[in-house]
Amino acid sequence: MKVMKFGGTSVGKPERMHQVSQLITKDAEPTIVILSALSGTTNALVEIGHSMATGDREQAHQQIGKLEAHYQSFIKELVKGEKALARAASIVAEHFEFLTIILKISFSEALNKDILAQGELLSTKLFSVYLEEKGIDHVLLPALEFMSIDIHDEPQVSTIKGKLSHLLQQYKGKSLFITQGYICRNARGEVDNLKRGGSDYSASLIAAAIHASVCEIWTDIDGMHNNDPRVVKKTRAIEQLSFEEAAELAYFGAKILHPASIWPAQHFKVPVKLLNTMQPEAKGTLITEEAGSVGVKAVAAKDGIIAINIKSSRMLLAYGFLRKIFEVFEKYRTPIDMITTSEVAVSVTIDSVANLKEIVKELEPLGTIEVEEHLSIVSIVGNEIVQTKDVLYKLFEAMTPVPIRMVSYGGSKHNVSLLIPSAHKTETLQLLNKGLFGLE
Ligand code: ASP
Ligand code: MG
Repeated sequence: MKVMKFGGTSVGKPERMHQVSQLITKDAEPTIVILSALSGTTNALVEIGHSMATGDREQAHQQIGKLEAHYQSFIKELVKGEKALARAASIVAEHFEFLTIILKISFSEALNKDILAQGELLSTKLFSVYLEEKGIDHVLLPALEFMSIDIHDEPQVSTIKGKLSHLLQQYKGKSLFITQGYICRNARGEVDNLKRGGSDYSASLIAAAIHASVCEIWTDIDGMHNNDPRVVKKTRAIEQLSFEEAAELAYFGAKILHPASIWPAQHFKVPVKLLNTMQPEAKGTLITEEAGSVGVKAVAAKDGIIAINIKSSRMLLAYGFLRKIFEVFEKYRTPIDMITTSEVAVSVTIDSVANLKEIVKELEPLGTIEVEEHLSIVSIVGNEIVQTKDVLYKLFEAMTPVPIRMVSYGGSKHNVSLLIPSAHKTETLQLLNKGLFGLE
């Protein structure tokens, strides 16, 4: 059995959905298809939730109307027959009625999750109507019946596996299943989600749960690229990556794959393929345990980084100091990305200002605290790059014009990370494209 996940742009237009139907019926292997919401929908739902949260119901009402109009014209191009169109129209009406009713209820975080879930529910149901019209036999599996997170908001593959296998047993003989990405139920049984971009995570969790032969992630680009195509002109797709390399790249800025989606596939040894819906014949990127080759494969950048420097002469020859620092971050559930130490100072980076004030306040008794914002981490990823000849030399030579704030090297064999002011990010990615890959 295999898993195929299609992102928002892959289902964002009626003709794209038509294309998806061809891709999922190409071979005979039983398949679970995971869909995102149509592109733009989740953003629109976030805005509706925001208007509701701020008490601007009139604005929410208008936003709902605009989105509904979009779906009404979408279905007219999606299906042709009267019966299918009526069915699609009633699905649209049902979900927008729900949103309109929600307008009248007092707003809560739980309600907001219900709002956010509408996108994936709509895309899968409408796709199912299209498949039905085309006579493509399939089963629509409700993700809310098997996808779940625990009390720590973490998905557990074993729990998902139990529920999903039970569900699949009811459909012996069927070979095509359609389900929603992103949405799930939390430990309280409420509708919840796997956070923005979480459909990849759904795909990987489902692939792990069914021990899929492959987890295909279909997007609008032909795999992971060696550099950010939005910033540098010439980039190329990477043929093969190890899970570790892909995790570093996904985490440090490559937008194509949700960072959390690596571990389930890696743990259950399911190969992941990143493929392009607009160019299905392109090779894309294969992610497995094997790295395929050595040397630098890609650079990626992550913005919105904050550096916190803790300076204290009490740290000199002391032990337990780092623990005290880490405990503060643990208390505020704030992950640390990079860390460097000297004998009297520690610098760490975080990617959220959510608890910055509290963290700084609690660190203050430990020493002098300095905070620097508007930074970016530039990560150089590859297999055994640390041992690869000249990489560091080329890296620092290319980076000569850039003020480097921190360097992290040696933590793993496949990553060197540099902290730089965000204002220098574009320049850095361009310099590295030339210096490391010979591309301009
Ligand atoms: N529709 C959700 C989002 O836009 C989930 C996803 O597409 O991965 O974040
Ligand atoms: Mg995505």
